[in-house]
Order: sequence, then structure tokens, then C-alpha cells
Amino acid sequence: MTVQADNQRQESPDLADQTCAACGSSNLRFVVNVPQVPAFCNVLLDNAEAAASVRRGDIQLVYCEGCSFLFNGAFDASVLAYSPDYANSLSCSPSFGSFLEETSERLVEKHVLNENTVLELGCGDGDFLTRLCTIGNNRGFGFDPSYFGPTTVDAGNGVTFKDRYYTGDDAVEADLVCSRHVLEHVEEPLEFMQLLAGAASKSRGKLYVEVPNATYMLEKPAIWDLIYEHPGYFTDRALVSVAEKARLSVSESSATFLDQFLYIDADASGSATESHKSKTTSLSRLDQLVSGFRDEVENSVKRWTNEVQRLAVDGKRVVTWGAGSKGVTFLNLVDSSSIEHIVDINPAKHGKFVPGTGQTVVGPEALVEYQPHLVLLMNGAYENEVKEMIRSLNVDATVKVVD
Ligand SMILES: [Zn+2]
Repeated sequence: MTVQADNQRQESPDLADQTCAACGSSNLRFVVNVPQVPAFCNVLLDNAEAAASVRRGDIQLVYCEGCSFLFNGAFDASVLAYSPDYANSLSCSPSFGSFLEETSERLVEKHVLNENTVLELGCGDGDFLTRLCTIGNNRGFGFDPSYFGPTTVDAGNGVTFKDRYYTGDDAVEADLVCSRHVLEHVEEPLEFMQLLAGAASKSRGKLYVEVPNATYMLEKPAIWDLIYEHPGYFTDRALVSVAEKARLSVSESSATFLDQFLYIDADASGSATESHKSKTTSLSRLDQLVSGFRDEVENSVKRWTNEVQRLAVDGKRVVTWGAGSKGVTFLNLVDSSSIEHIVDINPAKHGKFVPGTGQTVVGPEALVEYQPHLVLLMNGAYENEVKEMIRSLNVDATVKVVD
């Protein structure tokens, strides 16, 4: 699968009938087309045939000049159907665990959460919520249709999980409302932000929202962050903008987790302050980044395809590390037919197959026998952790971060 090469670039699509779901503007600009990517990057398959025949969809990245939101203009929700197989938890990694712990500690301290109530919309496996409750001896309520653990967990003053969506009718008066990595999955981000604001306003009005950082994706550029599961991509300016449109006042917006994530602390209590937008990336800078992104995507795909082919010709064994969305996107955009395995520390993924390209997922210990020459690490945040693991296994491989 390839992104259009220079001589066969697609014409910019007609965006006349589209509007921005975050602000309603029709002032839109086409950025890049990435056709026929697997619909799910986070659902691994049981066999090679199933991996080859996964559903696919197009990513047609569009930029809103009104609020700096990016979205997939070709997104079709019917291509996606969430199931319990959906495994996007990164909590297996010690680096990621530390990040969740630090974030929980910061929030408990900032909002003086002690013997209080915390609500999380889209709680995933409940790890973050459980930490918030444990640290501050709080009571927690988590909602997520993909949740499949016990309905109550004995942490802090007790955590209750519901395997469904939160609705405005759920009477939870929470001192803090959280939502991590949900907003980029919804087609109507303004509506979801309004739901969060409504949930927060039932009590103290405090809100924490975290998403992947699209400003980082443009700046780095981190093209492997383009995935079909995300109809939306938030620059810092877009996240603040949609929050303010939902009548929230933003007190803090910042990049975190080595700039890969973006968060806001916001308040729904109606104490309107001046707009926080002036503290985000300037419109002119975003304009410049968006203008160059199409070339960045096309050049990265070409460069890595050439590199992987050259290594194969030289007889070098290459594995990628991290069977999450970045790794799956990389294997699908680059010609990766010479790569046999992708490594992941999560045992639940071992023996499974990568959607689209069909590499098998193995644990780090499999490298002892395979002895790769090169490990392509999909996320630089785990560089030290992975190098340490490879050393301890006596595997003599170079680790290279895919940028
Ligand atoms: Zn917009």
C-alpha cells in the first residue's frame, strides 16, 4: 500500500459539502490522502487469512482553518464496530505506567481530591481511574462499552465500572470528570465536549481531557499517528477551541508524555475568563505545518520503504517493536513484506497477526532465537526500556527509533 507518488497525486477532493464537526466552519483545506488503511489498528487477528482480509477505509485528512481541527473527511463509522477484542491499553509498559501515575498524582494534588468522587468517560481497562481513587482515597465511576473487567474494584473508596456509554441521565456528582483518548474517536467532538461539561457541572465543574497531540504529529512529523480509528485530530488550538465552544474555561493546556499527548484542565462552573487560545500554537505556525505535511507523509513512506528493502537485499533481519497503532500503520504504509515479526511486551498479543500485512506478534524473548540485526522502535518514549530489555536477553541488535 502506498500514498500517492508525486506523478500520480490525486486531485484535491471537493470539500464544498463538508463542515468542521468541532466548530461548524466550512473554511476547510485538504491536507493528504492515505487510502485503504486497515479500519482497526488495535485489533490483532488469529490467523494470516483473517489479517489479509480486514476491512479497510480511506483517510482523507482535512484541516479546518476556523479552529485548527484536523479530521478524516472520508470517515465512515459503519466501517468500525467496537468489540471486546479492542486492545488499546498501553498499561503493560513501565514507562506508560509511570506517566499514568504522575498524571493521577498531579490531578489529585491540583484539585485536592481526597475522599471525593471521580468520573471517567471512556475508562478503558480502568487503570487510570483506579490510580486516581487509590492515591486520593476517592470513589470512582467508570463508563466504557469496551470494559470487560469486574463491576467493582476495591481501591480507594471503591470503583464502580459500567460497560456502556455515560449519558447525561447518569446521576454521578463528580468532583473531577476525566476523559482520556476518547475525543479523537467521536465524530461529533463538540457534542461530546458538551456532555463532559454537563457531567462536570453537576458538582465542582473540574474537568481533565487528554488526546493524542496533533500539533506534535504535524511538527515531528509523526505520520504513523494517522489511523482510521480516529475521525479527529486535535492541535492544541483545536482542543482549547472546542472546549471554549462548549462553554468551558480552560485553565491549563499542555503537551505531555514526550509531547505525544495533549491535555487541558478546564472548568465548567461558569466562571468565564479570557480565552486560552492565545497560549496555544499560532495560526500562522499551524498553517505552515499543515502546508508541509503532505510532502512529509509521502517522503517518509518512500524513505522507509527504500530502507526496509535495502536491509532485506543485504540479508538483514528486521523486526518492529510495538504492536500498537503506530507499528501497525508503519507496516501497512511502508512495503514491509520482508518483515516477519513485530515485538510486543503484552502477552495477550503474542501469536496474533497484524491487520493488513500479517506479521506475527512475538514477545521479546522470541528475539533470542531470531537474533534480528535491527529493531525498529515505533515509539521513542520506550527507547531506554527496550534497549535495556534487549541487552538483558543478550540480543545483539541495533535499536532505531522510527521518526
Ligand atoms: Zn473547525
